[in-house]
Amino acid sequence: MLVTPSVAQQVSLSPAAKSQEDKMASQTLVEQFRQDIGNVSSTVDERQLRQKSHDFHWYSPVLTPQLQNCLADVVVQPRSEEEIAAVVVAAVKHRIPLTVRGGGTGNYGQSVPLKGGVLVDMTGFNKVTAVESGSIRVQAGAVIGAALEAALASGQQLMMYPSTMRSATIGGYLGGGFAGIGSVRHGIIRDSGMIQSVRIMTIEEPPRILTLCGDDVGFVFHSWGTTGIILEAQLKLVPAEKWIDCIATFPTYGDVIAFGNAAFDSDLDIFLLSAVERRFGPFYKRLHKYFDGSRDAMFSMVKESDVDRYFALATTFNGHRSMAVSDTQSAAANLRRIHETAFNHTTLMALQVDRSWTYLQVVMPNPYEPKLAEEQMRRFGDEVLMHHEYTKEKGRCRIGGLPLIRYTTEQRLNEIMRSFEADGCMLNNPHIFKLEDGGRFDPEGRKMAFRASVDPMKLLNPGKLRSLS
Ligand SMILES: Cc1cc2nc3c(=O)[nH]c(=O)nc-3n(C[C@H](O)[C@H](O)[C@H](O)COP(=O)(O)OP(=O)(O)OC[C@H]3O[C@@H](n4cnc5c(N)ncnc54)[C@H](O)[C@@H]3O)c2cc1C
Repeated sequence: MLVTPSVAQQVSLSPAAKSQEDKMASQTLVEQFRQDIGNVSSTVDERQLRQKSHDFHWYSPVLTPQLQNCLADVVVQPRSEEEIAAVVVAAVKHRIPLTVRGGGTGNYGQSVPLKGGVLVDMTGFNKVTAVESGSIRVQAGAVIGAALEAALASGQQLMMYPSTMRSATIGGYLGGGFAGIGSVRHGIIRDSGMIQSVRIMTIEEPPRILTLCGDDVGFVFHSWGTTGIILEAQLKLVPAEKWIDCIATFPTYGDVIAFGNAAFDSDLDIFLLSAVERRFGPFYKRLHKYFDGSRDAMFSMVKESDVDRYFALATTFNGHRSMAVSDTQSAAANLRRIHETAFNHTTLMALQVDRSWTYLQVVMPNPYEPKLAEEQMRRFGDEVLMHHEYTKEKGRCRIGGLPLIRYTTEQRLNEIMRSFEADGCMLNNPHIFKLEDGGRFDPEGRKMAFRASVDPMKLLNPGKLRSLS
């Protein structure tokens, strides 16, 4: 018996509150869906449903209990545009939610299927389609590291990538990311000019394929998969440089920040500028020889020809040259690569040692005075460890703090957030799973209007947009 769309719509696919009757109805629905998608790879295996329904939201002790029971009803892994279209058509026919997933490295449950339904694992759709002079075309499920390798083979490189580039996908980075290694040189994703165009599929019968260029690429950027399925992206490439992994250490964290501010304003060619205080030392086991916890540090990737000038500048802020290694030297010595110590990998290294840490995302006031960093360290004591990433936004320095927080209660976490805000910092709260709550989302309403035009039945990642819940 075919379940009609109106009946299907009434069936709660959320695992939490399924009655036996609901369960049977949704199982029937899922079976019909699987028949309709024909040869597209799919599974209802419990272990795989659980694995693919979760991302890195376990970073947050606030999100973990809220999301841990969310489960997809079926996972599909399409390998071509035709297969993605077959999934869309069947989901539209049965009005089943669709949640798109890349590498599942998002930290706020962006790809957790809040209302069950179909989890679309894009990692089977993963070809580098073309590498040209100045640009690369990549299918959305391609791992970013693979795109970087393809670019490097042509003497070019990506403008930026997340520290998760070995497991995160292009589609996931555009849909859920914000900045990364390279953002101090080229800016955050949004205003870097990195995304030249994207092809997306709409959620309707029949699905349309749209190509977005210029400002319109912003419709899919950081939209958590609610504004169409990204199929392919064309990204700008720049000439490849030889980057050297550098560590400079300093007697105080204020010195690290003062040096970072000066390095940002200098003409040094720098691809990463990541400040970490000494109490992170015990978490950096494979770099212990160079960062042993006795001094605060700046972790950087610096153009080979600028390395000596970089350390000369550090000296003027009481800095010491601690490490400067090429890719080959780093691999030969089995060192942790610098890009895997930065952004949220810093947090990950701490969590791998002690799960009672969590973190915040804070934009520091501009200019960021070293004395404020030191005052905050005094105020919070052992409850907060400092880590800052230098990036660029509209040509200006943007310092993002990713402090580690010793978690006690949600109330105390909120108090710490308010304390940062009182200093003029802007919070991008990572302990939320509603898109609008994370910061400024779509203030002019253009994105929401676009969303309605590409997903009129509101099937994409339902529950993530407060305004649609
Ligand atoms: C250790 C660690 C370090 C990190 N470092 C960084 C960093 O340096 N910079 C940064 O910006 N982020 C960082 N993040 C967050 C995350 O890794 C990145 O945003 C990453 O690029 C997400 O890619 P993914 O393939 O894992 O996406 P997923 O987590 O699978 O998905 C992210 C979002 O994008 C949507 N999505 C996925 N594919 C598509 C598609 N084809 N079409 C439409 N929507 C889609 C999903 O629905 C979801 O909402 C880090 C996270 C961790 C855990």
